[in-house]
Amino acid sequence: MMINSIYTHREIFLRELISNASDAIDKTYYKGLNDSSVSFEKENYFIKLSIDKDNRTLTLSDTGIGMSKEDMEENLGVIAKSGSLAFKKDNEIKDGYDIIGQFGVGFYSAFMVAENVTVLSRTQESDQGYKWESQGADGYTIEPATKETVGTDIILKIKENTEDENYDEYIEEYRIKSIIKKYSDFIRYPIKMDITQSKPKEGVEGEYEEYSEEQIINSMVPIWRKNKNELSDEDYENFYSEKHYGFDKPIKHIHVSVDGVVSYNSILYIPESIPFDYYTKEYEKGLELYSSGVLIMDKCQELLPDYFSFVKGMVDSEDLSLNISREILQHDRQLKLIAKNIKNKIKNELQNILTNEREKYDGFYNSFGRQLKFGVYSDYGNHKEDLQDLIMFYSSTEKKMVTLNEYVERMPEEQKYIYYASGESIERIEKLPQTELVSDKGYEILYFTDDIDEFAIRMINMYKEKEFRSVSSGDLGIETEEKEESADTQEENKALLDSMKDILKDKVKDVKISKRLKNHPVCLANEGDLTIEMEKILNSMPN
Ligand code: ADP
Ligand code: MG
Repeated sequence: MMINSIYTHREIFLRELISNASDAIDKTYYKGLNDSSVSFEKENYFIKLSIDKDNRTLTLSDTGIGMSKEDMEENLGVIAKSGSLAFKKDNEIKDGYDIIGQFGVGFYSAFMVAENVTVLSRTQESDQGYKWESQGADGYTIEPATKETVGTDIILKIKENTEDENYDEYIEEYRIKSIIKKYSDFIRYPIKMDITQSKPKEGVEGEYEEYSEEQIINSMVPIWRKNKNELSDEDYENFYSEKHYGFDKPIKHIHVSVDGVVSYNSILYIPESIPFDYYTKEYEKGLELYSSGVLIMDKCQELLPDYFSFVKGMVDSEDLSLNISREILQHDRQLKLIAKNIKNKIKNELQNILTNEREKYDGFYNSFGRQLKFGVYSDYGNHKEDLQDLIMFYSSTEKKMVTLNEYVERMPEEQKYIYYASGESIERIEKLPQTELVSDKGYEILYFTDDIDEFAIRMINMYKEKEFRSVSSGDLGIETEEKEESADTQEENKALLDSMKDILKDKVKDVKISKRLKNHPVCLANEGDLTIEMEKILNSMPN
């Protein structure tokens, strides 16, 4: 079944339901800020888990915002409905990746462990509660029901064990407790559970009796407020998945705690693989923004420059107002400071990975290098300085991706320019006659295989005082005697050249004798500012 393929670990259903409950309480809290008739007494808000072994149920109750009948139809029904569509296409789905993006399978993950899910809920606005019930893909029912308090109960009827699958663990106290600890420890509201204890039986020597005691399972300290050295890589990875930042394993996390002109905590991730919609208009960059621990925005775009739009994560600051609007945020000085700081952190971390973990960087660059080059190209804020040391190109001599700095360091003294050759692929460029002269001199050539490459390089213009020069350029700055010598031969072969020019008419501007060819009879060269490759790209662009 689709649901099972999405998450490899079934246990995360609990993380999903707890995070929904926490969201629901957040919503009440948020409402209270703007509506004086709603009061938020912190001690009244919690999440409670109960196990009923005899009936094989696990119940999750929250004191959050609740759901009306319409809410249930809209929010819980969606997946069951669109789910049928998804099931039809099941065979085309590779890893369920797109499904999560499209339908947000959070709540639905309950069906990984439950054969039946009942949602009992009531909102502040009405005395009437409603009961939603479903067995999964086949749809659901909703009917009026009695519920004393505002909030939501989610009752999971846990599946029976099968030959190869064990479900009993989800009605075991210790197991549920450990799943909460693992994934939901930082949830801001108490997650309560009745835990069975035993004590010596009164009056009877050597005998014990069991009793139940309510405990708060989570530590309630958000991960970003914790000390870095208390946290393991796994903690950061769990937070990444719990937040649905991505379905990959991030290659790096950056944990920032700043106390200064502006104070904030932030956890940032550099993902490994490209989100399926990354290079499309649909992709939205941004970081989660919290004000004193309360989520106020899902994707705050102002916190990330476009060229680092792949970064995921969150920022929590006490210096931001809770009901700050998007418009105000754009001009907020504090936020600008945070954004600038974050940008530098990301840049430095990338530089770090590049220097110390080259293989990791290669993988990262393979996914997001193009975005960095776009950043160089669209250099409004003059940020090419930030990026030019992070971009790489394939090298003719090293046969791998190299940085501009590495290239320049290897340049022989007499080499004037940083040479590059543009083409569709490495194989194609390798066959270009224009590369011969430069390669024969023993000079390294950078291969530009991406449309954006040459445009980006034009923006950089000079790197460490070296200009860039296309191998197809008329002046390669290599043999000075080339010009005069070829001037003679040019005269001698005038008749031939003229007739060639005649045949090619306006396809070329001139036909010249060249000394740079070795194994090829002819090649194209450019004279003006635009290289042949750039011309091709510009001509193929819609006007
Ligand atoms: P997401 O949390 O990403 O929105 P889910 O599938 O986890 O997606 O949940 C779908 C929606 O159902 C939520 O957005 C919310 O509106 C509603 N919902 C789920 N659980 C609760 C709950 N405990 N209380 C109130 N609303 C809930
Ligand atoms: Mg959810």
